[in-house]
Amino acid sequence: MIRITQQRIKCIGCGNCEEVAQNNWRMNNSDGKADLIGAKENKGFYTVISSNDDYEPNFEAQNICPVRIIKVEKIQ
Ligand code: SF4
Repeated sequence: MIRITQQRIKCIGCGNCEEVAQNNWRMNNSDGKADLIGAKENKGFYTVISSNDDYEPNFEAQNICPVRIIKVEKIQ
């Protein structure tokens, strides 16, 4: 399993994460920021547990997010 985290308030809405990791990211039409699908919020950080299959796309999202607010970790 993997843990994906986003510090959503700092999102600038570039859309890169949705482009490379469509299983986990959707642009939100209301505020123009990216939603981490199914995530729970805690103190501004959104977190979701996902399958290992989602690691590579989200590792890419982590690396191409221009404001470096995405983190993906293997947890098992
Ligand atoms: S890549 Fe980063 S800044 Fe761009 S939409 Fe996704 S979370 Fe926001």
